Amino acid sequence: GELPQPEQVQALVTEAYERYRGTADGTVADYIPALAEASPDLFGICVVGARGRYAEIGDVDVPFSIQSVSKPFVFALVCEAIGYEEARLRLGVNSTGFPFNSLMAVELNEDRTMNPLVNAGAIASSSLVPGDTAEDKWENIRRGLSRFAGRELSVNADVYASESATNLRNHGIARLLASYDRIYFDPEQITDVYTRQCSLDVTVHDLAVMGATLADGGMNPITGEQVLGHGVCRRVLAVMATAGLYELSGDWLYEVGMPGKSGVSGGIVTVSPGKGGLATFSPPLDVAGNSVRGQLVTKFLAERLGLNLFASV
Ligand code: GLU
Repeated sequence: GELPQPEQVQALVTEAYERYRGTADGTVADYIPALAEASPDLFGICVVGARGRYAEIGDVDVPFSIQSVSKPFVFALVCEAIGYEEARLRLGVNSTGFPFNSLMAVELNEDRTMNPLVNAGAIASSSLVPGDTAEDKWENIRRGLSRFAGRELSVNADVYASESATNLRNHGIARLLASYDRIYFDPEQITDVYTRQCSLDVTVHDLAVMGATLADGGMNPITGEQVLGHGVCRRVLAVMATAGLYELSGDWLYEVGMPGKSGVSGGIVTVSPGKGGLATFSPPLDVAGNSVRGQLVTKFLAERLGLNLFASV
């Protein structure tokens, strides 16, 4: 199947925006000081179809740091480079049941495998990106994520500085992994690369294009570039379905029925394979770190656009 007609998609996107713009629940993240400055009123929605048509509304041009929404895309780059079986062996693909920045998740599991969407697995993923130096790895990440977005992405210097000054815990995670030989580069340098990765600026429009690329078997529907192979693409979606919304990923799959990924700056990208990508941006978060309005909008649109993967009719 495909998405409904473009006018109908736009009407539903507009309806979702009106329906949830007044929602005042949730709290803007403040553990990274620069994120606390985001207005709780920012709100944008974008749907990009697998053939590149889009419908959007609200703050669709406002840049924000990508944060954890970078993780599935970096994992995709790693799978392309080393193969998805090797990537699974080195990183793991099961849910941890713990918050995104947990060290317990690493301690409890004898394999020390996590999954690429929690911080431990994500920092380890960044360490597996091709490149002999931190600078090379960084440039490969920046360029790779830009291919998903279909434009050159760059770092938000304020967020990068702010998180660099406060990311002791991520440095701790990287060192713990290093003690188990479960990180594949210098822990200090790779935590810095990971922090830069999380600071890349995107818009909600960019996120929807990135999601549409995953919806389209790895081909960016705007640029026509085949960014990923099909086999990698479906594994990335599997990990998103398992672990994309922090420790509430089961609730998400139960209600939305699609792979997604959220981040603490307020973005959520959701993928409807074969149909398109849906992205939302609204900074107030639930306790796990998922945008409150974003979840409401996605549930609404998943229902109205008929996107639930488990629906047979
Ligand atoms: N850069 C953030 C961190 O590592 C990303 C968190 C997130 O979006 O889940 O703490």
